[in-house]
Amino acid sequence: MMASSNEKRIMCVGLCCLDIVNVCPYYPIEDSVKGSLDYYWQRGGNASNSCTVLSLLGSNPEFVGTLVKTPEYEFMVEDFAKYNIHIGNCAIYEENTYRCPVAVIVINIENGSRTVMAALKNIIELQYSSFEKIDLKNYSWIHFEGRNNMENTEKMMMRIIEYNKTVDQSEIIKISIELEKIKTAHIVPLMKYADYVFISKDFAKCFNYYNKEDTVKGFIKEAKPGGVVICAWGEDGAAAFNGSHDIVTSNIFPPEKVIDTLGAGDTFNASTVLALNSGKSIKEAITYGCKVAGAKCGVNGYDGIK
Ligand code: ADP
Repeated sequence: MMASSNEKRIMCVGLCCLDIVNVCPYYPIEDSVKGSLDYYWQRGGNASNSCTVLSLLGSNPEFVGTLVKTPEYEFMVEDFAKYNIHIGNCAIYEENTYRCPVAVIVINIENGSRTVMAALKNIIELQYSSFEKIDLKNYSWIHFEGRNNMENTEKMMMRIIEYNKTVDQSEIIKISIELEKIKTAHIVPLMKYADYVFISKDFAKCFNYYNKEDTVKGFIKEAKPGGVVICAWGEDGAAAFNGSHDIVTSNIFPPEKVIDTLGAGDTFNASTVLALNSGKSIKEAITYGCKVAGAKCGVNGYDGIK
């Protein structure tokens, strides 16, 4: 799925954060001192991770979010450039006003689990006034990482819907949103603006759904008519439902050894979006999503996912 430079882009709207990753031989015991096997900085945040995956899969992604000129800024910007991810429409803030989101992450090499402690104090979410300036004709798909930013996100989604009313069928921008974080339970109403909704298992569990099929069946009521609800469920693969046909599912594609599941969901979302954007069926798309996400679980970081 190679992109040419004049091909319309997939935009991911959300957070870019610094991930300080420690790869550990096992999950540490509280108040103990142990050496880790490896340590690295990684550009993280769901939308930013999905852009990395889209780029590695040969697409032409753009990240739109806020960036703050803290000491981490240069690292982020250089890393976006390394993966050819456009960031020209990001809102840039000075250091003395806001902080860069930072996550300290423990990866347990025994089973690939990732434990994330995110420091999100004094961060700034993307404002509608920044999104309003973007020329929408450059995009075929806009994916939102559902964040605690409901009012601005609603306006952004409404803007795309209004834009879509003014263009030919072939120019219509598809909209997707991810509902992943428990503290964003209140943004469920945004589902009705999206063509595709990604629900994570943790989000589903806080609504008392305990498998992927019940999740897509339950949440379809909140989607717009014809909208599709997709749910990835770790080692149980993924399911999708459009409300009229049968639920479609995919099994996982296990790597030889699971060593790093950090960003498996972001990888699934990005590769599923890419497949849908290139005209694949829902079943083909979630299967591709599981294939790429499975490969990701077998490597540290994202390089080497394909
Ligand atoms: P999240 O990162 O949001 O917790 P999930 O754990 O639901 O995401 O995983 C997303 C996708 O990644 C799954 O649908 C599956 O395809 C793949 N995946 C996750 N864990 C594994 C695993 N242990 N082996 C193979 N694939 C996996």
